[in-house]
Amino acid sequence: MEFNLNNLVRENIKSLKPYSSARHEFTGKASVFLDANENAFGSPLEENFNRYPDPLQWHVKFQLARIKGVPAENIFIGNGSDEVIDLAYRIFCNPKTDNVIICPPTYGMYQVSADINDVQVKKVSLTKDFQLDVEGILNAADINTKLLFICSPNNPTGNNMNRTDVETLLNNFKGIVIIDEAYINYSRQKTFTQELTEYPNLIVMQTLSKAWGLAALRMGIAFASMDMIDLFNKVKPPYNINEASQQLALEALQNTQQVNDWIKTVVQEKEKLATALSRLPFVKHIYPSDANFILVKVTDADAVYGFLAQNEIVIRNRTKEIMCENCLRITIGTENENKLLIQTLSSYE
Ligand SMILES: *Cc1c(COP(=O)(O)O)cnc(C)c1O
Repeated sequence: MEFNLNNLVRENIKSLKPYSSARHEFTGKASVFLDANENAFGSPLEENFNRYPDPLQWHVKFQLARIKGVPAENIFIGNGSDEVIDLAYRIFCNPKTDNVIICPPTYGMYQVSADINDVQVKKVSLTKDFQLDVEGILNAADINTKLLFICSPNNPTGNNMNRTDVETLLNNFKGIVIIDEAYINYSRQKTFTQELTEYPNLIVMQTLSKAWGLAALRMGIAFASMDMIDLFNKVKPPYNINEASQQLALEALQNTQQVNDWIKTVVQEKEKLATALSRLPFVKHIYPSDANFILVKVTDADAVYGFLAQNEIVIRNRTKEIMCENCLRITIGTENENKLLIQTLSSYE
């Protein structure tokens, strides 16, 4: 299939002359920096926070490259995945004319970001077993369809999308395919980050907010071709990742052992929780999950949600989402938290 990235990019982005920061323009060796109007004396903090951060976060990217097995040049870091999603809209979607396809029930930001950017959303619901309606998606696409969002493992259902379905879409969808792998660390499914050379229309999103335990740092990651990464770098705010986050992420990324241990524990706790939940009389169905949460169908989601809230336990009520009637999404907590949840639920009704 012939693919030309440039044909999908908005005209104003193609012709954009990006902001050139002081740190961008000078690349040689220097010891005196009088180019950025910073406070040369220092900052009230011990670290050198008086200087602007590296706009391209190379140290963090080199670490990620090592861990993920993807060259640093194929990595973009956003201020959370939310920034990656928003940038994709701004690079590819002309407000009021272009559209995107999402597959509900799924992550809410794809729709919100579309609404903010005044881009039409075509919804092609997942099938009854929460898989992609491949034919429906390809039929829904028209010449103004720029993006297709695939969330795998999917939030809030927890399941992986069938790999062959995703491959069929990568091969046949004429726009950009964004695979959101926020929960990939918990999944038995293989990541798509190793397929970037095969699919020039692919963006894989991951995040440090879930398994890595760094939700507060706001680091979303996009893996894509260098041409695609160039577009993201062109449109992003010059210093989108602050220096504190860069330093802390660099430190955290050394600690893969701890993260891998947590992942194993979460998977074990998930099995225990699923078993305990299945014994409760008002639990109608537990959906299989490859993520760090479980979707549960109960007799009355609003009532169970309210009861837990009264007991100071907060979960996510998804009953208003399509195909999620009376469904609750429960994040896997610590052993004690999960015990407390089950104990509390045992006294419901
Ligand atoms: C939690 C989540 C993210 C992460 O968003 P950040 O902005 O990186 O914290 C992305 N996608 C999905 C589907 C999620 O559930």
